[in-house]
Amino acid sequence: MLTRKIKLWDINAHITCRLCSGYLIDATTVTECLHTFCRSCLVKYLEENNTCPTCRIVIHQSHPLQYIGHDRTMQDIVYKLVPGLQEAEMRKQREFYHKLGMEVPGDIKGEACSAKQHLDPRNGETKADDSSSKETAEERQEEDNDYHRSDEQVSICLECNSSKLRGLKRKWIRCSAQATVLHLKKFIAKKLNLSSFNELDILCNEEILGKDHTLKFVVVTRWRFKKAPLLLHYRPKMDLL
Ligand SMILES: [Zn+2]
Ligand SMILES: [Zn+2]
Repeated sequence: MLTRKIKLWDINAHITCRLCSGYLIDATTVTECLHTFCRSCLVKYLEENNTCPTCRIVIHQSHPLQYIGHDRTMQDIVYKLVPGLQEAEMRKQREFYHKLGMEVPGDIKGEACSAKQHLDPRNGETKADDSSSKETAEERQEEDNDYHRSDEQVSICLECNSSKLRGLKRKWIRCSAQATVLHLKKFIAKKLNLSSFNELDILCNEEILGKDHTLKFVVVTRWRFKKAPLLLHYRPKMDLL
């Protein structure tokens, strides 16, 4: 395999924030020009300005904050490239909440609901169970330890759009971005006491989602830069209607 070594130095400009000169934290991108900054830096800047700090285009005359979006892909890249940055940031955030005497939010503390625990229809199991895939032993080890709690999390709203099925009592859920559409199907099937998850289709923007797609993929391909939680609909499979 042909690999080319790239020095961190060479790409620093692309993964640092122009406002604070640090590595991007909570990377947030201006939807108009695609320039990226730390979320806190950009939000603070836009309290006084309505232009992009890099290219100076007017983001929006009066509501620039509505035209910026969390850029998970960019943040993932930064965390992958800069060793220890993610851990350091998590630690900082925990200390911040401790100092204020506030409860540490789940996704920092590591208690956010995990895909495996909450979406596994067999339930009761608190063991990560699909370690058969192609990840390395090391990654698997990590997963076994935290049951996907340290994964990126997504907020989802699961709406029923068929009179043939019930709505969920709790339609807002938060789970690992690594969970797949299949996990969601199993989750819904269990909640609604359906005999099989195969009876369901899940849709985003009126398009049926493939069962093997991760929620991360769905967000990146169909929900990028939207601030609202990912809105998904479920209904019986067409041929069952
Ligand atoms: Zn910054
Ligand atoms: Zn710009």
